[in-house]
Amino acid sequence: MSVSIALFTADLRLHDNPVLRAAQRDADEVVPLFVRDEGVRAAGFDAPNRRAFLADCLHDLDAGLRARGGRLVVREGDAVTETCRVAHATGARDVHVAADVSGFAHRRERRLREALEADGRRLHVHDAVTCVLAPGAVTPQGKDHFAVFTPYFRRWEGERPRDVLPAPRAVSVPESAESGALPARSDVADVSPRLAPGGEDEGRERFRRWTSDGVDAYEDRHDDLPGDATSRLSPHLHFGTLSATELVARSRSRGGAGAEAFVRQLAWRDFHRQVLAARPAASYADYRTRHDSWRRDERAATAWREGRTGYPVIDAAMRQLREEGWMHNRARLLTASFLTKTLYVDWRVGARHFLDLLVDGDIANNQLNWQWTAGTGTDTRPNRVLNPLTQAKRFDPDGGYVRRYVPELAATDALRGGRVHTPWKLPAEERRALDYPEPIVDLTDGLNRFRVARGLD
Ligand SMILES: Cc1cc2nc3c(=O)[nH]c(=O)nc-3n(C[C@H](O)[C@H](O)[C@H](O)COP(=O)(O)OP(=O)(O)OC[C@H]3O[C@@H](n4cnc5c(N)ncnc54)[C@H](O)[C@@H]3O)c2cc1C
Repeated sequence: MSVSIALFTADLRLHDNPVLRAAQRDADEVVPLFVRDEGVRAAGFDAPNRRAFLADCLHDLDAGLRARGGRLVVREGDAVTETCRVAHATGARDVHVAADVSGFAHRRERRLREALEADGRRLHVHDAVTCVLAPGAVTPQGKDHFAVFTPYFRRWEGERPRDVLPAPRAVSVPESAESGALPARSDVADVSPRLAPGGEDEGRERFRRWTSDGVDAYEDRHDDLPGDATSRLSPHLHFGTLSATELVARSRSRGGAGAEAFVRQLAWRDFHRQVLAARPAASYADYRTRHDSWRRDERAATAWREGRTGYPVIDAAMRQLREEGWMHNRARLLTASFLTKTLYVDWRVGARHFLDLLVDGDIANNQLNWQWTAGTGTDTRPNRVLNPLTQAKRFDPDGGYVRRYVPELAATDALRGGRVHTPWKLPAEERRALDYPEPIVDLTDGLNRFRVARGLD
């Protein structure tokens, strides 16, 4: 019996999985392998919310494989060492894995290839598993990647993605493949109290609901903070319990302005991935330096992290992040602009905090969106500053978003409706009775400081 290994990484699904499909085509038996990689922990990327979500995903993947006659093989340790051990124990000659874009993934791929080849085995790396179009699939003339989204999107739209693959009907796993225990969500400490559940079944059901009663209103409502009218599929895309290729195909066949707008957001994901693939250093260094001398202000950064800046919409967003391990996109833009521009604190400080809590925390999307907001990335208007009050009036006019996450403001009668955004306007006595801070910065002062720092005034 010939054996091959499907090494799962950010593609924890049975539907539309080219890695699993190729491993099955290659051999009589396949080892569906996931390694809980100690390198992820060493890289500081092992956040409790993602670990808990991952545990759900692995349980679901195992259940899906068992329903097809197989099972998931889980190992813990160094991904390369463990994969080689499994290959050795089962006699697998070929290992299949998805291509990925981070420096971490590149190093893992290189080490894995070398170790397997030294042992007479082969590594097959599959493109367009964790994204729709592989990095480099479209490029501007004479360059290795697009630095601006709009021209990228024009090319992206014109390409035909690969076909969507069905889930396998049966999976045959060799008995010699020994597995460790599956991790359990309940073993993970410090998880956000309202973290969403993970797993392919959960992701598919969420996408089904989104298609039947969410996507049509997406274009009009995606910025509506209290409406919470985005798909919330980002953790599933991050862990690959849903395939971006399948989401694009199904959204396109449904059609309509909402579905088109949703597909455009998925293209943003590919855009950031092709930037990071070409410029791995963008995960920690400015993509386009503006020669910033960021302020070190631990007091302000702590207030920002804790949701105690005195600006209710910012504080609501930061508390949503802590409570759910997720934050609305408009709120991410507001909080990132507030930290990097109004407070003029280094984008890396904010990106680190997001990575510590976000269940969808993703090197390409997180670091490059932070850079976009800080004006060191791909934004063509790098010095735009979002005013939290103007934005709150526009995207949370009745204050429903703030009241949901900032209970000390929700309980005050005098702060009904949009007045919740300006608690400092309360009469002095009522203001003193509130356990809520004064604004930590004057918005005009913050704006002026930023403009001077960037040499705009
Ligand atoms: C400072 C900052 C940090 C961010 N960090 C992350 C992160 O770590 N992980 C992450 O997945 N997204 C990140 N984003 C992008 C975006 O905010 C989230 O993808 C989105 O809010 C997820 O919610 P949703 O699934 O409901 O999105 P929807 O609006 O329903 O969009 C559908 C999908 O499109 C993709 N998408 C949407 N907007 C973007 C974008 N701006 N860039 C790239 N892909 C996008 C996501 O995969 C998302 O799930 C960040 C944005 C900012 C401004």
